[in-house]
Amino acid sequence: MIKLHDLYFKTFISEEEIDAAVQRMVDEISNDIQDEIPVFVGILNGSFMFVSDFVKKYPKPCEVTFIKLASYEGLKSSEDIHRLIGLTQDLSGRKVVILEDIIDSGNTLSEVYRIFKNEQVDELKIATLFYKPEAYKKDFKLHYVGIEIPNKFIVGYGLDYNGLGRDLPSVYQLKTTQHMTNLVLFGPPGAGKGTQAEFLKNTYNLVHISTGDVFRFNIKNETALGMLAKSYMDKGELVPDQVTIDMLNAEVEKNADANGFIFDGFPRTNAQAEALDKLMDSKDSQINAMIALEVDDEILVQRLLKRGETSGRKDDADESIIRNRIKEYYKKTAILKDYYTAQDKYYGVDGEGSIEEITERLNAVIDSL
Ligand code: AMP
Repeated sequence: MIKLHDLYFKTFISEEEIDAAVQRMVDEISNDIQDEIPVFVGILNGSFMFVSDFVKKYPKPCEVTFIKLASYEGLKSSEDIHRLIGLTQDLSGRKVVILEDIIDSGNTLSEVYRIFKNEQVDELKIATLFYKPEAYKKDFKLHYVGIEIPNKFIVGYGLDYNGLGRDLPSVYQLKTTQHMTNLVLFGPPGAGKGTQAEFLKNTYNLVHISTGDVFRFNIKNETALGMLAKSYMDKGELVPDQVTIDMLNAEVEKNADANGFIFDGFPRTNAQAEALDKLMDSKDSQINAMIALEVDDEILVQRLLKRGETSGRKDDADESIIRNRIKEYYKKTAILKDYYTAQDKYYGVDGEGSIEEITERLNAVIDSL
């Protein structure tokens, strides 16, 4: 991912794919032109990289020239007129191939045809490396197309966003969701996730989703989801993956404009972690870190029994249920440590000490991301 000015872009078309497309176009065009010497006309600024790579690959003699699209202010300030300038050469009787980096609406192409109308060229052909069929509104024939792309804003390989990005050797696409910070807060029951999530949520302006809280809310309101979840929760077992994943997706969708999320109590299984990656990917985003609070088992049991005295939670009142929840955590969910370690996203944080001390440790990790 890259940032240009205020916007984020994700990788889209690799150098290798571009190279292969340019080579295909060279093969096709040189095959059509045979032994005549063509004039390749690049449209500045965007096409400089494409033209350069194209002519380097072109197997026979050729001429290269450039024209530029200039903006003149129209009579009304809202009506800027675009004109191509720079065509000084006599092209009568020549085979001309326009080399464009990208064709979207086709407005530049109208200008090209307007300029060439009075030139007595033998043949005028249009070649474009990138083409957005959904955006194209003209009837001019495009003789050679490198890569068709969806109607998304792209930069790189000659194309810019407000002056930046032309130098990039590959192509990037604008991210539909701009930058989010997404954290998985992890730790056994009683590790203090809920308490710490409150602080993190306020400090970093994130939306906190605790799957346990959402289930409890549903149980309290006697929804179908609540009834289903209750039978598992009362025994300290995990609610089935698909139920939990669907619920989480719905919670994320409810907060489409969020700056980012703190996932608390989710994921708890590999299947959930994979589903979360998919969900983040669909939002052009990702999990930035899994932060795990590490606390000794006996301290956990003591903390939960104490909480059970006031919380009214059935699963906090009974020591054997508490121990079962901790066991479940290590049995099923500690594997997630491996999942996020493999992605270089696992951060263990000492969860013993005062609440303030632990908050400071968490902030230090997030600030370092
Ligand atoms: P918690 O409040 O996070 O300790 O969760 C309480 C209970 O809710 C758990 O013991 C599970 O029964 C259920 N639960 C919460 N999150 C999940 C999840 N990600 N997957 C399956 N069950 C969950």
